Amino acid sequence: MTDLSINSRNLLAATQPDEVENEPREECGVFGVWAPGEDVAKLTYYGLYALQHRGQEAAGIAVGDGAQVLVFKDLGLVSQVFDEQTLASMIGHVAVGHCRYSTTGSTTWENSQPIFRHTDAGSGVALGHNGNLVNTAELASRARELGLYGPHTTATSDSDVVGALLAHGAADKTLEQAAVELLPTLKGAFCLTFQDESTLYAARDPHGIRPLSLGRLDRGWVVASETAAFDIVGASFVRDIEPGELLAIDSNGVRSTRFAEPTPKLCIFEHVYLARPDSVIHGRSVHSARVDIGRRLAREQPAEGELVIPVPESGTPAAVGFAQESGIPYGQGLMKNAYVGRTFIQPSQTIRQLGIRLKLNPLREVIRGKKLVVVDDSIVRGNTQRALIRMLREAGAVEVHVRIASSPVRWPCFYGIDFASPAELIANGMESEEHMVDGVRQAIGADSLGYISVEGMVEATGEKPSELCAACFDGTYPIELPSETAMGKAVLETMMPASKDAGPDRLAAPNDNVSAVMRP
Ligand code: SF4
Repeated sequence: MTDLSINSRNLLAATQPDEVENEPREECGVFGVWAPGEDVAKLTYYGLYALQHRGQEAAGIAVGDGAQVLVFKDLGLVSQVFDEQTLASMIGHVAVGHCRYSTTGSTTWENSQPIFRHTDAGSGVALGHNGNLVNTAELASRARELGLYGPHTTATSDSDVVGALLAHGAADKTLEQAAVELLPTLKGAFCLTFQDESTLYAARDPHGIRPLSLGRLDRGWVVASETAAFDIVGASFVRDIEPGELLAIDSNGVRSTRFAEPTPKLCIFEHVYLARPDSVIHGRSVHSARVDIGRRLAREQPAEGELVIPVPESGTPAAVGFAQESGIPYGQGLMKNAYVGRTFIQPSQTIRQLGIRLKLNPLREVIRGKKLVVVDDSIVRGNTQRALIRMLREAGAVEVHVRIASSPVRWPCFYGIDFASPAELIANGMESEEHMVDGVRQAIGADSLGYISVEGMVEATGEKPSELCAACFDGTYPIELPSETAMGKAVLETMMPASKDAGPDRLAAPNDNVSAVMRP
């Protein structure tokens, strides 16, 4: 057995260019399909491909054929983890898939998903989770008291705790009943897709922080974090899964159970930055919302410029809106090398020193001699913008006016998005709005700087303000947070030191022949 996980992890850490570190990190993507007669592993592969932007550290697929659950997962991109041969060996009618960026638990093979557990009744449960729980420590204590974490358990993610408690609950009841009992005890953001040998399940937390939708295939059903994943597998959108709703999908059709009263608080950052522009969230096209943000930005923060250029690609729709509203011509002044930050080949020191040029290259003939309005999606630490503005000036820009299609990020997210630490956020801790904007402008070297207001962002999404989470912008957290020591990426590694030097994960060595996790 080759342990690729160690090599992959080290390479991943070694090869992320600095600019990639400056961007907010998406949380995860989940996908599920129930479709007898279809190649569910391949459908899941393509679904995950469409969701790759939500997590690039690890990928995995579980398949059930009515008799067993088979899981294959590893660190890396979907296209790196799976090949034709592996997918061809995964035969069944129900599957769940996951692409991961870690918000609780480190980047290890054991923490990659779908996580797998046996129930005492001998069934297999595979689970993928998008989001981040805030009561992981409490749930882990319960799991430990129940004897679900032994010396050989090496997984340290909140998702693994959920899988362990879910499988434990299904010892003397159905998985559906176990889920209805467990889900109300989870606090925080979660969109779950999980399965046993025959049935697909999907659940969304009562606040609906992360999106999750249901789609229809000719011969089955799909669920996905974003509707863009439906397009790639030929599914049609049916509806969003409601906050506080559990779906079970099998040969009897789709069953819906309300496990908690909905109190919607959709993450506004999904509209602004995280989701694909070709996805639809809560009935609103993400692309349209971003173009509208650009229009509002032009009204709120007009600029004297000759050319509006986006920072591709996430700044593009807002730049289009800004140009439409302001009447300033729109142009492509920067080309993006989309895949360089995803390479597993370690860049040499010479290449590393190129910095932002690894990702973006200026079109000099477009930029030269112009007063530019540069539209970007967000500023987190400011390093990227500083390097970008220097590059634009070197390419001949006369003036650079920066307009940002989100409000200043001032507070951390505890619901599944990894920003920099509060101390590293460039807008954090500045006394007044005016000081903050001018301080950031000077730090990045722009001629002028303007952010859209929180109200402008909210209006562009078309959502009710009371039904959105905007905590990273306004500091109002919709879900109560525990003490700092009970949260954080390493909370379970701290709680379960015995697991650090443990032997093989019991998940990788199933205790019967019914189900298995395949390790590369
Ligand atoms: S804190 Fe920000 S990123 Fe996190 S869920 Fe709320 S709006 Fe989204």
